Amino acid sequence: MDRLRALAALLLIFGLALAFAPLGQAQQRLKVVASFSILADMAREIGGDRIELRSLVGANGNAHVFQPTPADGRAVSEASVLIVNGLGFEGWIERLQRSARFKGKIVVASAGVSPALTADDHGHSHGHSPGGSASTRKKAKVDSLPDPHAWQDLRNGMLYVDTIARGLSEADPANAEFFVKRASVYKQRLAALDARLRSEFAAVPQGKRRVITSHDAFAYFGRAYGIEFIPAAGVSSESEPTPRQIAALITQIKKENVRALFVENMSSPKLVEQIGRDAGASVGGTLYSDALSPPGGPVDSYTGMFEHNAAALKAGMARN
Ligand SMILES: [Zn+2]
Repeated sequence: MDRLRALAALLLIFGLALAFAPLGQAQQRLKVVASFSILADMAREIGGDRIELRSLVGANGNAHVFQPTPADGRAVSEASVLIVNGLGFEGWIERLQRSARFKGKIVVASAGVSPALTADDHGHSHGHSPGGSASTRKKAKVDSLPDPHAWQDLRNGMLYVDTIARGLSEADPANAEFFVKRASVYKQRLAALDARLRSEFAAVPQGKRRVITSHDAFAYFGRAYGIEFIPAAGVSSESEPTPRQIAALITQIKKENVRALFVENMSSPKLVEQIGRDAGASVGGTLYSDALSPPGGPVDSYTGMFEHNAAALKAGMARN
């Protein structure tokens, strides 16, 4: 009788273990949704296999014009943590949070950053020199908004990592030590990369450090690494430029005498390619600004983005 009871108890324990082990494991993983691929990569570096991660805007996606699907809404409603960039980058996020009845913790990754202001879409053709002209500054007072692309400076990226690690730790205190430790190792990698890029760009003669890009996403990068990014005048990632704006841009390129022209992975390359041909400049390659490539692609991590962009920029600037 005792042996039978012991056997039954063993079977019960074994059965319970089978029934609850996978469920228990799944429940332990913090559900995290990041608004776009760069934040998702940072969250993956920090959260490792202790989080279940989804990115709303996917690889090569344009967060400026993103339209969430019902599946995105479901993911947000089930998430414990929602990581966003902030600074007006995700214009669609508040509506998505409301419609998904998001009750979790929102982490604004850029919270610790001092934001730069954007040149407005029409002002930069007149005053892209540091400080800008008096008229640009006056205009800026009226039109300027925070520039959301703060992750394009690795030192800001380190602040993002701190903020994300803190957010994950608050949402899942049992794993706080794990998150903070991984964040610290990751930040060391970012700091080493930052130092290397600084010295590499410093070795390029200052007069050559000028490039033209299709959308104005590199102000932070330019300030951090001493490069003048001349945004294609009147070209916004949200609208196609008019023939008049294109003609103005070609004049601008010729006047500025810049050979280094770049397209971006999340906007159509055709326009910049055509402009390059018409202006006698060549397209120096693709820069990654607002999205990573799919896993296994040329730029599938935040650090890989800097490696890729730095190599492309150095090659392009060498032709200036
Ligand atoms: Zn952008």
